[in-house]
Amino acid sequence: MEQSIESYIKNLVRETIGHTLGQLQLQSERRIYVIANWKMNKTLAETAEFLQKINSSNNVSVVVCPPTQLLYPAHLFIKQSGKPVGLGAQNVHWADKGAYTGETSISMLQDVGCEYVIIGHSERRQYSGENDQLVNMKVAQSLKAGLTPIICIGETLEQKNAQKTEQVLTKQLFGALKDIDSGDFILAYEPVWAIGTGQSATAELAQETHSYIRSVLKQIVGQKAESISILYGGSANESNAAEYRAMPDIDGVLVGGASLQAHSFDGIINVFAKGEQNS
Ligand code: PEP
Repeated sequence: MEQSIESYIKNLVRETIGHTLGQLQLQSERRIYVIANWKMNKTLAETAEFLQKINSSNNVSVVVCPPTQLLYPAHLFIKQSGKPVGLGAQNVHWADKGAYTGETSISMLQDVGCEYVIIGHSERRQYSGENDQLVNMKVAQSLKAGLTPIICIGETLEQKNAQKTEQVLTKQLFGALKDIDSGDFILAYEPVWAIGTGQSATAELAQETHSYIRSVLKQIVGQKAESISILYGGSANESNAAEYRAMPDIDGVLVGGASLQAHSFDGIINVFAKGEQNS
């Protein structure tokens, strides 16, 4: 009964004041993530030290994505520390098993404690031939197995200058999510020109693009788009994190360079943990 009164009120609010309050409610239900992508960096000892030093927060889901060979020790270090830190991989293969030298399957990742996996990072799109079709296969299989994909999309500088950002993002989104209508995933908008360059997108530009991404997501997954976390990635750091946090469609950050030092990554966690996002 309470449930139905609550949904009646929510619906009434949405209908009478142009969805605004209902929208705010949905935003506050989105999880906020601060995710470290270490790429091909760090030793075993550095991993232990980093995980010992960083703080976690109840307001923010903190996830660390080390290189594959450090996943299991990282899992043990996290367990030992008792901190609520999630573990993610930087890539996965779509097949269950077989003759795929050098690859890692979803079950192998889950076996060593992974709950997340980055899929479609622009560096993999650039160096390893990861295209929308492969991204889609990896996303579909990960979702089936209960591994949460962090799907990366973003335009190159050339595409941005040719004013093709929306076209590129639309194609990447429809490609990655083809035939996918259930399961929880995270999106990361990572403009390629901002990754590792120190040229971060302004918070205003990122917000505008995230809002566009959410509108395309709505076409694909309907109203569920409101509850999907969309992270910004591209030279995010301690100094610009607060600007991203203030934006209504930015639900956290995927961090490369600034995630390599515990103190700078911690600084970003603190910014996002400070209070309610989007307030
Ligand atoms: C990334 O590679 O996902 C990334 C966001 O890198 P950086 O923060 O170094 O730009």
